[in-house]
Amino acid sequence: MFTGSAPATPMSASAPSRPRSSRVYLNHHCVFGGRELVVIAGPCAVEGEEMLLDTARAVRQAGARMLRGGAFKPRTSPYSFQGMGEPALEFLAAARRATGLPVVTEVCDPRQVERVVEYVEMLQIGARNMQNFSLLAEVGRTCRQVLLKRGLAATLREFLLAAEHIMAQGNQAVVLCERGIRTFETASRFTLDLAAVPVLKEETHLPVIVDPSHAGGRASLVLPLARAAVAVGADGLIVEVHPAPEQAKSDGAQALTFEAFADLMRQVDRCAAVLGRAAALPPLAEAET
Ligand code: PEP
Ligand code: MN
Repeated sequence: MFTGSAPATPMSASAPSRPRSSRVYLNHHCVFGGRELVVIAGPCAVEGEEMLLDTARAVRQAGARMLRGGAFKPRTSPYSFQGMGEPALEFLAAARRATGLPVVTEVCDPRQVERVVEYVEMLQIGARNMQNFSLLAEVGRTCRQVLLKRGLAATLREFLLAAEHIMAQGNQAVVLCERGIRTFETASRFTLDLAAVPVLKEETHLPVIVDPSHAGGRASLVLPLARAAVAVGADGLIVEVHPAPEQAKSDGAQALTFEAFADLMRQVDRCAAVLGRAAALPPLAEAET
């Protein structure tokens, strides 16, 4: 597909460079690209220690395998909440210790990377930074797993070349995330490009997950988009969940309540089973909670 301007050297991300799909390993229960789907869940932004811990416990109980939460938020308006910054990193690490869930958080600036790697297992590159080449190179020099989100207006070729910027520095642990692209349609926040999943599966050996929250932009669309993502072969999902979505400091309209997330996990697990896969991490035994 991506012919015509083939690079001079073979690409690390391209499918022919590896005989089978790569797995990106966080822990025994959290492996991207395996039979089990990885559902990442948590608030858009970390807003405090208690709300994060409550959310981490709720999503863990519902079967999520990983916790998300933004400490640094790249906002369209400079007057919107920009994230709590460093204190949020402490809260994320505490939530990991309390629940055992590995944590992903976004880095927006190469200067943040050295500090953030001390707190979290996985670094997220947001859609607005997909072509921030100095940031891609910086995360490529770490040994942390990377969640790379597709840019709002990036072609799949540009998306894969962004992954290449990370991998060229030596870090091969990249997970791709389709999160919707800008089209003429305004009924949803972005247009979820479902075809991107099977196309990327053909073109690359890297795991591919889907973000139904930012694509839909409102809570009612998250479940149907999540089901569709599983049906087209996504290796996981990243979903925004908040204890009180109407009070969220960012992206409240698309945040799921704990109950809605538990329902999503049940439904997504059933969809995964049809494909011979599983989504939900089994609930914790009494002694572990
Ligand atoms: C996010 O995950 O909260 C986020 C800002 O996502 P994106 O970069 O896809 O907009
Ligand atoms: Mn968000």
